[in-house]
Amino acid sequence: MRIGVIECGVCGTDHDIAAGKYGKPPAGSDFLILGHENLGTVREVGPGVDGFAPGDLVVATVRRGCGLCRFCAANRSDCCETGLYTERGIIGAHGYIAEEYVERPEYLLHVPPALRPIAVLMEPLSVVEKAIETGQKVLDRREPTPGFPPQRPPTALVTGTGAIGMLASLVLSVRGYEVTAIDRHGDATLAARVLRRIGATHVDSSSGIDAIGTAHYDLIVEASGAITLDFQLVSRLAPNGVLVLTGIPDASAPPISVAGGALLRGMVLANQAIVGSVNANRTHFELGLNDLLRFEERWPGVTAELISQRRPLNEAPQVLGEHVGGAVKIVLTVSTLTPFSDLSPRR
Ligand SMILES: [Zn+2]
Ligand SMILES: [Zn+2]
Repeated sequence: MRIGVIECGVCGTDHDIAAGKYGKPPAGSDFLILGHENLGTVREVGPGVDGFAPGDLVVATVRRGCGLCRFCAANRSDCCETGLYTERGIIGAHGYIAEEYVERPEYLLHVPPALRPIAVLMEPLSVVEKAIETGQKVLDRREPTPGFPPQRPPTALVTGTGAIGMLASLVLSVRGYEVTAIDRHGDATLAARVLRRIGATHVDSSSGIDAIGTAHYDLIVEASGAITLDFQLVSRLAPNGVLVLTGIPDASAPPISVAGGALLRGMVLANQAIVGSVNANRTHFELGLNDLLRFEERWPGVTAELISQRRPLNEAPQVLGEHVGGAVKIVLTVSTLTPFSDLSPRR
């Protein structure tokens, strides 16, 4: 299938690639086309492709399997066992900041027109869906207690209020969690405002983790990659709780000192777990699509607020080279052939 690109979100991975810290061009190419957070429209459907037609809105997944392991064979390359996968716009495959791209239908998802204004968030949302699904599966080992219902709603702590942290706060809120999200900013930011609107609690933890008081949480979703904080978070888990790590720490960061005995002892005695989560497969994009619809029902317009700016493609070098304080998600408009105003908001 041939897809015309409408827009692409920019994240820390793109900044790292642009700065030369990460990323790899496809074999035989001396450059890499960036862009993995994408939204496009079908231009042409090849013979033998069912279910798609020109004009359909689509989002493409990012990782492509190694062709060797069982998970990649099952289109679950997020669990690849060889590490020989490629990722469009990141490692070994061109991305989506291009006029158009060609892709197989199993890597594309239909997007309803009503979600046009926010569907570019589906890729980061898929990462969040996988992380929360992973954490929930670990929590679910507790199993229900028939006749003894929970005495309080489940609680979640989210660290970081970038796109991953904010989307995690939205997902956990619609799942019935009482959500607290921490960052190193005051209450005047866009993130803090959105958190208030969805009924979550925002805490400025620039003075340290004790800013959240003495609370402990069933589920902690870490989206900051802050190494010292990650270890501190273990002490904030409730009994049977789980800490899901999604931030990618700097592997060359200097060693830190941790009271390992106390940390591991506490984990054993309270059945706690730390689990990492990366990337996502097609099922997580589908979960994200459903949740975008639920967000719109529950908090109309709030998800769109997470897109702080839309910038034209010719400003890509500036967007990739700068850090905009207070922005949650910056989106590059790749094609104006499908004007935003023609498609939104339609339900
Ligand atoms: Zn990204
Ligand atoms: Zn594989």
